Amino acid sequence: HPSARISGITPHGKDGWEIHFAAMARRQAGDDILMLSVGDHDFDTPSATVEACIAAARAGHHHYTQLAGLPSLRAAMARVAGEAAGIATTADEVIATPGGQLALFAAVQATLDPGDHAVMISPYYATYPGTFRAAGAEFTVVEARADDGFEPRADAISAALRDNTRAVLINTPNNPTGAVYSRQCLEGIAELCRQHDLWLISDEVYWTLPGGKTHLSPRALPGMAERTLVVNSMSKSHGMTGWRIGWLTGPADLIARLVSLNLVTTYGLNDFVSRAAIQALDNAWGIDEIAERYATRRRAFLEAVRGIEGITVRGSEGGMYVMLDISGIDLDCERFAWRFLESERVAVMPGLSFGEAASGHVRISLCQSEEVLREATERLRRFVASYG
Ligand code: PLP
Repeated sequence: HPSARISGITPHGKDGWEIHFAAMARRQAGDDILMLSVGDHDFDTPSATVEACIAAARAGHHHYTQLAGLPSLRAAMARVAGEAAGIATTADEVIATPGGQLALFAAVQATLDPGDHAVMISPYYATYPGTFRAAGAEFTVVEARADDGFEPRADAISAALRDNTRAVLINTPNNPTGAVYSRQCLEGIAELCRQHDLWLISDEVYWTLPGGKTHLSPRALPGMAERTLVVNSMSKSHGMTGWRIGWLTGPADLIARLVSLNLVTTYGLNDFVSRAAIQALDNAWGIDEIAERYATRRRAFLEAVRGIEGITVRGSEGGMYVMLDISGIDLDCERFAWRFLESERVAVMPGLSFGEAASGHVRISLCQSEEVLREATERLRRFVASYG
């Protein structure tokens, strides 16, 4: 039988993704389902990136790379990370990973021993609990309240700290809520981390989608560069989800230690994908177009949804998702999602999949065309009216 360590990562099986899998199965069987459940773009990677990858493969870049990533890739990632945070960043403060998920895994492995404790914020990205469990770490979930625009309060985080707390994990712009944390919120969290000598793991994979705001990274706050680990990725920013390329930024001595994790897990990244990634980073391929596309979709969707009685929206400033407050309708979030799928053929995620704080909500992904989103809004209007 499998080890307790592996079985313990997702002890509840599919962990809230049942609706998504059911919708996928119906779609594959030919049913016309609008898939607003996952966060993967409906468009392809920019063609310049694809061409760069083909050229690199043709040029013979078929070999192992340095374990921490090609030096020129790390340099490009450091430059982008530095610009995103507004703080000088060197290549030795960056380690390349196959996607942000592995960067997150590395950050948790690097900062928590079995039995150590961490704090994370709910609603959260669905892989967070499993990532802590894989490290044998304990964690407390602190709720960010809808009334606060889904921004966590520093005093709530403070109340969750224990003697063995080593790290706090935050995510801004946020999945699933779309909240973009204010400077005041980040300063409060940074203050706690300095006071209690904690690591701050900051998941910033949506850094190019901060809504109307400017992206703020807590790494740039006073005294934080030495205790912040930033999870980053080209999946969302550069339209490269399936390429699996991301990185972790942090203090050079900790990053150097993480080379040993790459040694025993990935043994480095794909050579020709790395070469294409360098060019995509250097030329910012796709960034502005993708950001503009999501901003337009968000505006149009929010406008359409605001006219539906019984539905309210909070948070939802940036990133790729919108949380709909459905507590005015006489259905809990899971029943709502299942019935919406059954009667209107639209797949959305029940809020509970992202933690208790999101009960009474469903998450809509903006990863579909405006036309699909418009059609989904019409179906939502009809569905809600039938419960009015
Ligand atoms: N962090 C958050 C908040 C996410 O939403 C995702 C993907 O959806 C990831 C990390 C991991 O993304 P990837 O591994 O594709 O970089």
